[in-house]
Amino acid sequence: MTSTTLRRLLFSVFLMSLFTTAIKRYSLSSLTRIIAKTDVNQPVTARAMHIQSIPMWVGTGNNYAYLVSDDKSHEAVIIDPANPPEVIPVLREKSSSGGLKLTNIINTHHHKDHAGGNQEIINEFHLQVIGGRDCAMVSKTPAHNTTFNIGSIKVTALHTPCHTQDSICFFFEDGEDRAVFTGDTMFIGGCGRFFEGTPKEMHKALNETLAALPDDTKVYPGHEYTKGNVKFAKKVLNNDAIKRLDEYSQANKETQGKFTIGDEKQHNVFMRLDDPELQRVTGKTEPIDVMGALRSMKDNS
Ligand SMILES: [Zn+2]
Repeated sequence: MTSTTLRRLLFSVFLMSLFTTAIKRYSLSSLTRIIAKTDVNQPVTARAMHIQSIPMWVGTGNNYAYLVSDDKSHEAVIIDPANPPEVIPVLREKSSSGGLKLTNIINTHHHKDHAGGNQEIINEFHLQVIGGRDCAMVSKTPAHNTTFNIGSIKVTALHTPCHTQDSICFFFEDGEDRAVFTGDTMFIGGCGRFFEGTPKEMHKALNETLAALPDDTKVYPGHEYTKGNVKFAKKVLNNDAIKRLDEYSQANKETQGKFTIGDEKQHNVFMRLDDPELQRVTGKTEPIDVMGALRSMKDNS
């Protein structure tokens, strides 16, 4: 090897090491920038609305209470805490170590398996009850379409009389995050029985009031009834959305918050009253008549 070749070789090695160092520096600085950018964006994009499901009477009533908190202000509400022995331990833990400030009980309707725990919860936590007019210990019944706030979460009360006349669904919005707590008015893939109302009222509740919410609104019902609802849906209608819901409910014990208003429009037969197949199966054409017929078929199934 001549000395010139050696010099050239050494020079190339030198250039390559310079190049590698530059690449490393650049990558490191761009990585730092990405991290810095993420940190800066965090408070803006992070979810502030936090929803914790509390299953109650699993295996019998299969109810859900929901603890909803605003991570920014730490304000929180408990929705339908009907079985205090299953709810109070969670509330104690979250309000002491978790630092949550519980402000209200919210009830979707007066039935005992939703509002029956109010007295016992109030004894310990001294909360006001927001809910339907017939709920135990109720102190405020918001008018239809009126709003209130839990920290930065905006809540809209939507009156949906039928299962009971005092049924209210509560629509929670935090920026782009949307959830609706539907009590026994809407279930995943179904609806509640018409104890105090008519097919016309349920049609209005599901297909006007709740259907008007943004399609990406997540649905949190009062009970885990999805498997039974799919079983009935499959008897009267077959579509891809019902197949997907069937598969999901077979594989997952809990379905609350996993489906949206947009999904319900596809797989909830009570929201597909214009579907020719459902008109054929029920022998009815008017939406209210289809609603009534479907509910009777489900009640007798
Ligand atoms: Zn119920």
